[in-house]
Amino acid sequence: MLLVFIKYKSVPSIESFSYDTSDSDQRLKSVSVDSATGKIPLPEAELVVSAGRGLKGPENWGMIEELADLLGAATACSKPVSDIGWRSHSEHVGQTGIAINPQLYIAVGISGAIQHLAGVNASKNIVVINTDPEAPFFKAADYGIVGDAFEVVPKLIEAIKIHKSNN
Ligand SMILES: Cc1cc2nc3c(=O)[nH]c(=O)nc-3n(C[C@H](O)[C@H](O)[C@H](O)COP(=O)(O)OP(=O)(O)OC[C@H]3O[C@@H](n4cnc5c(N)ncnc54)[C@H](O)[C@@H]3O)c2cc1C
Repeated sequence: MLLVFIKYKSVPSIESFSYDTSDSDQRLKSVSVDSATGKIPLPEAELVVSAGRGLKGPENWGMIEELADLLGAATACSKPVSDIGWRSHSEHVGQTGIAINPQLYIAVGISGAIQHLAGVNASKNIVVINTDPEAPFFKAADYGIVGDAFEVVPKLIEAIKIHKSNN
């Protein structure tokens, strides 16, 4: 089971990160991988990395893909992101999109509108990364970072890579 511990701070910083594969209580679930894309289908993903309009443009999804690949996670997005064609509609989660219930949902640059939360609030752990401390998503978050995605996500990627190389 993957555990992410990020302390809620006013400046972006990763306080600690743990990837515990020895937990005897962990629940293992096999998931299929789409043979065409090599990706885990969103509805059955245990880990999901999702991003919204805070990412500014489709050219910035590389870091979201990289984080998801490192974690073995599926990618998702908010409705406006798919409406404007930054990402496929197959990634749109929420009231009018796919409803998901992963063990971990990481939301990057997503405000947390009620219609978005309707599709993701069954997630066991929600981690929110947003520049706005008043973003509604923080009220639904288990862990939050008030910070710029373009600083926080690369730090998270770096921390995971270091952890993986040491284990
Ligand atoms: C009938 C109806 C159904 C809908 N169904 C859905 C649905 O199914 N799913 C859905 O998602 N929405 C749905 N919506 C739309 C919903 O109301 C919101 O408009 C939408 O979820 C907002 O998307 P967003 O959070 O990506 O964008 P925004 O509301 O624009 O929020 C962007 C967020 O990014 C943050 N940000 C900006 N820059 C950065 C940065 N550099 N780093 C980190 N954070 C940053 C901002 O502080 C902000 O909180 C529906 C709306 C209606 C009316």
